[in-house]
Parts: sequence; C-alpha cells; structure tokens
Amino acid sequence: MQKIDLLGCTKEEIKDFVTVKLKEKEYRTKQIVHWIYKKRVTDIINFTDLPAGLRDKLTHLVQIGSLQLISKEISQLDGTTRYNFKTQDNYIVSCVYIPKLERKVVCISTQIGCSVGCVFCHSGKMYFVRNLTTGEIVEQVYAVRKDVGEINGILYMGMGEPLLNYDNVVKSIKIFLDTDMFAMSKRRITVSTVGVVPNIYRLADEKLGVKLAISLHSYNDEQRKWLVKRLKFKLNEILEAGVYYAEVTKTKFTIEYVLIGEINDSEEHAKFLVKLLDKLPKIRKFVKINLIPYNTIPEEKFIQSKLDTIEKFKQILVTNGYLTFIRKPYGNDINAACGQLGF
Ligand code: SAH
Ligand code: SF4
Repeated sequence: MQKIDLLGCTKEEIKDFVTVKLKEKEYRTKQIVHWIYKKRVTDIINFTDLPAGLRDKLTHLVQIGSLQLISKEISQLDGTTRYNFKTQDNYIVSCVYIPKLERKVVCISTQIGCSVGCVFCHSGKMYFVRNLTTGEIVEQVYAVRKDVGEINGILYMGMGEPLLNYDNVVKSIKIFLDTDMFAMSKRRITVSTVGVVPNIYRLADEKLGVKLAISLHSYNDEQRKWLVKRLKFKLNEILEAGVYYAEVTKTKFTIEYVLIGEINDSEEHAKFLVKLLDKLPKIRKFVKINLIPYNTIPEEKFIQSKLDTIEKFKQILVTNGYLTFIRKPYGNDINAACGQLGF
C-alpha cells in the first residue's frame, strides 16, 4: 500500500486523516504538525507525546518525505549550493540554495523535465517526465532548511513550469504560508511562469498574495514562439494577466527577460519592448524588469550578451520609466544558475 506523504498535506488534510481515517482526537493534528515543522523530527517513533499505538499506526500508514539526498555541490564562486535528490521512481530532482542574496533563498523545481521546451533552457531540452508531487516540492525546502537553518525566501524557478503543475504548486504554497508549518511571509515567495495565462488569473484569485514573475524574453510574438517553443499564449494576453495579478495582489509583478547575445539584446529590441509595454496604460506602476544574462547550457550555440550591450538595454528601459535590474548569476560553476538544471 502506498503511504501518504505528510509533507504533501495541508494542515486541513492532516486533520481529516487524523480524525476520519485514524478516528483520533483533533488535537493530535497539532502535535504531529509541531513535531514535523517546529521540532523538525521525521522519525515518527520519536514523536514522544503520542501514544505508542498511534505512533505504530502512523508508521504503517504515512511517511514524512520521499526524496533521498544523493549529492550536494557547493559553488567556489559564491557559496550557492545545489542539492540533488533521487525520487522514489529514480529520477533526479534538484534545488538550489542561494546564501548571497540579501536573504537566504531556495530555488525549487516543480516538474521533472519541462514540456514547454524553451530553446535556451537546459530543463526545456529534457523530455518531460512528470509533475512533482506536493510532497516532493515541499521537501526540497524542508531538506535545505534542515541543512542550513532558517530560510527566508522561496523561488519557484528551478526545473519545470509551476503553472503547468497548478494544484500541487498551490498546495505547496499553502503549506509554506501556514504559520504552524513554514510560516513564510507571502511576499518572500515568488512563482515564476513562462506565461500560462488562465492559471495566472486563477493564482491571482486564490488570494495567496505571493509574488509573480513572468518570463517574457521578447517584444515580438513570432520570435517568442521560436524561443519558447510550446506555449500558445500571446505577449499582450500574458502582460494583461500580469497586470491583473498585480492589481489583485497589490504588489508589482516582475518581467524576466533572458538576454541572449545577438538574439534579443539589441537597442532595437529594448525600444520595441518599451513600445509593447506602453500599450498597457497602467503598467509602469505594476511592473519591474529583471534582465537575466544568458547562462550557457550544454549543446547549445547561443552566446552571452556583452556587458555594455546589457547596460545599454537596461538604460533604454530605465530612461522610459521602467524599474529595471540586471540579475547576477549564482552558482554558474556548478550548473546551478537559471536554466542550468537538468537530470
Ligand atoms: N518555467 C518557469 C520557471 C523556471 S525557469 C519560467 O520559465 O519562468 C526560471 C528562469 O530561468 C526563467 O526566467 C527562465 O527564462 C530562466 N532561464 C532559463 N534558461 C536560462 C538560461 N540558459 N540562462 C539564463 N536564464 C535562463
Ligand atoms: Fe520550462 Fe521555464 Fe525552462 Fe522554459 S525556461 S523550458 S518554461 S523551465
């Protein structure tokens, strides 16, 4: 019989399991949650304030986590750490701990492979295997926190497209926000999407208040179709959804733009990007732009943009009133930077 992974359950689900399936008193839920999330104990036998019979029952019916840590690589450049786990069906899931940002942040994966297939992304070059379960998503943060101590930011920017694994991603966010569980602040969680429009609206309406980043990469639908291979939504629909998200959550959304040498990094491109954005009347109030210099990936011939090209691109956006930053890569030397996760 398949055991239930408690790391994939919300408090409500644990309560239902305790009261309906085990026919125990409701307060046992709090005790179990406390052991897992506050005392960070995963061996049920050590849940000492539960009766031995209940511990025994739990040991047979549930597990706390399913991933096995198989390796950990630490960047010599900046201390970024890539954790590689093996799933129960023998795939590799990676997440990246970034200690050098102003906060201690974990960048997590949501799928094995990615069906969108962006040409510049290593994850997109992998075939798509499956969605990660809620437990597998949550456990990445659980394991890193156990290793390094408190975490104060979560980025859904690892392998996979979070909004194509919608239900598990939303449930994992609820677990991260729950004050009895991870107690993360909503503004410290960012979901990055390539632009799955209907699910941007759905996520806004969940009223979870987490931040949203949209990966744009072009001003032009034709070029974007070439860069982002299997996604049918048009740039203007994606941006409208972003503005809706920002309005509902009362926080700016981020546009991420991977700058690839001689592909989408010219001054022309920057000016046309401004034109595209300017079509949405209120957008300046609702957006900030992160320029991400392309990180090299295996078997791909793209080149990196020159530093002064990146700077010029930024200046055009800034001069036109758009809050713009250049993102520094982390963990380049251990293949842990944006777009470098594969399996
Ligand atoms: N699927 C989601 C989240 C994972 S990718 C998305 O596409 O947004 C996280 C970020 O890494 C995205 O902004 C993506 O465009 C960027 N990225 C992918 N490949 C990259 C590369 N080779 N160099 C730099 N950034 C890359
Ligand atoms: Fe998937 Fe995001 Fe990589 Fe595109 S950039 S292939 S959507 S993970």
